[in-house]
Amino acid sequence: MSAESTTPDEAATDTNRDFIRDLVQSDLDAGRVRTVVTRFPPEPNGYLHLGHAKSICLNFGVAAEFGGRCHLRFDDTNPVKEEQEYIDAIERDVRWLGFDWGAHLYHASDYFEQLYDWAEHLIRAGLAYVDDTPVDEMRAMRGTLTEPGRASVFRDRPVAENLDLFRRMRAGEFPNGARVLRAKIDLAAGNMNLRDPVLYRILHAAHPRTGTAWCIYPTYDFAHGQSDAIEHVTHSLCTLEFEDHRPLYDWFIEHLPVPARPHQTEFARLNLGYTVLSKRNLTEFVRRGIVEGWDDPRMPTLAGLRRRGVPPEAIREFVKRIGMARANSVVDLALFEHAIRDRLNQTAQRRMAVLRPLKLVIENFPEGDTFDLTAVNHPDDPSAGTRPIHFGREIYVEREDFMEHPAKKFYRLSPGKEVRLRYAFLVTCREVVKDAAGDVVELRCTYDPASRGGNAPDGRKVQATLHWVSAHDAVPAEVRLYSTLFKSPDPGAGGDVFADLNPDSLEVLKGALVEPSLAEYRPGEAVQFERQGYFCADPASRPGALVFNRTIGLRDTWAKVQAGGG
Ligand code: ATP
Ligand code: MG
Repeated sequence: MSAESTTPDEAATDTNRDFIRDLVQSDLDAGRVRTVVTRFPPEPNGYLHLGHAKSICLNFGVAAEFGGRCHLRFDDTNPVKEEQEYIDAIERDVRWLGFDWGAHLYHASDYFEQLYDWAEHLIRAGLAYVDDTPVDEMRAMRGTLTEPGRASVFRDRPVAENLDLFRRMRAGEFPNGARVLRAKIDLAAGNMNLRDPVLYRILHAAHPRTGTAWCIYPTYDFAHGQSDAIEHVTHSLCTLEFEDHRPLYDWFIEHLPVPARPHQTEFARLNLGYTVLSKRNLTEFVRRGIVEGWDDPRMPTLAGLRRRGVPPEAIREFVKRIGMARANSVVDLALFEHAIRDRLNQTAQRRMAVLRPLKLVIENFPEGDTFDLTAVNHPDDPSAGTRPIHFGREIYVEREDFMEHPAKKFYRLSPGKEVRLRYAFLVTCREVVKDAAGDVVELRCTYDPASRGGNAPDGRKVQATLHWVSAHDAVPAEVRLYSTLFKSPDPGAGGDVFADLNPDSLEVLKGALVEPSLAEYRPGEAVQFERQGYFCADPASRPGALVFNRTIGLRDTWAKVQAGGG
């Protein structure tokens, strides 16, 4: 009865065809490409997020499907923002997502020497020059969409002077920002990227890999396509914001003696409702302490999703379902949640946990006695087995499962009402005990000893089934309930992403009680707390100090939308 069996666009989501795979297939068919080579090129200036997962699944997926290979290449051309911590996290997260680059781990910095040679090649060909124009002025001189750029007075420097200055830039003779190397292309080009783009800038900064060997660094544009060519990448897949860079990408490939001719193809970046997928913003959340760190379970980072209990299979399935489009759009968060539930529903064992306990005393149950019962671990998977649970005179139920003055359609506990305790007995509420402040602290009940397993022998109807734990063996736990980090479906639409933060994105329940079989649960292992949702033990959880993160609640709004239920 899974939701996707009713999905109307099942065919579209189940086949893996899209315009990129069609392109790859036609390149193979036409003999333009023999071995498909892709790459995932993260800049190690932050942790990977769900948007990157789309790119990872695409690049590694296409390579695997067409019998090729995918490289992991660190795009490490800006030493100021890049750190070893990020490099390590990126490798860990790509592996966790289920992909393997084998021996093909590369860095743009591996090619610094080659890139430098190619820069000299352009200078010698009269296609690059050293410009001393201050940055601000240079920017102003680039013109606008309606006005052509103006030439720098250094544009026609002789080749020998350019070579000499560029070598002295490399030798460290000039301070940061004093000069740049620019390509000499077309100052009137409609595409701004072709108006003599910067190829190298002076940056006296140590690099995580090359140390202080360099004080000039290539720009993204000068490094990316050439790195692709060096690695014999056939399909350089990137997000749409690079579309305007493609003519420049091609220009370098045409004008340099590169060993191969890669092609760039763009696809839509992933945007997700209620979610910010921008490293710049995510870095700010961490820096300002808005979240606990990059792996805060509210973060859309792979590290955060992992800690929250989202299985990598759900992320891969989600990416498959959204497909590859050429136009940008915003994906409904419910679709991602649906993929998570769908996966966890299959894999998570069921347990009982009471998040906000209310004591229930069964007056006709013998004091000190317990009753052994059997609970099933997974309703659809008999191989998951069963476990014993122990019923006693004092148990706890969920506070919200009781109403002293029941609202209409509230079928759970209220004075005089009979309900079923899951796997156990029918109980009837006889009396409500309150403290001096008038708050309900305890319910006095009776049980029907003939209703073992939860069915009345006379077949009388009982509408509600409640989860519960026994007072004598329940284990205390902290439970963290997460909701979206943003209260707006389009965070930052009003100009300030921080104004859209959800102040209630985390609720910590210190007094939860879980059944004893959860005492040994391992971090990362998924569990369904019956009627509550999917949870996993936090990495900080240990026997005696259990901490559970709610991965996701049970309600599936996407399945409802798909079923036409609105
Ligand atoms: P951000 O915009 O979050 O700062 P980025 O593009 O600067 O991300 P990179 O490390 O350069 O981050 O990205 C590595 C690869 O992941 C690039 O090919 C980029 O196009 C892709 N990518 C980044 N964000 C998304 C996204 N939201 N959806 C799909 N692909 C993405
Ligand atoms: Mg980038």
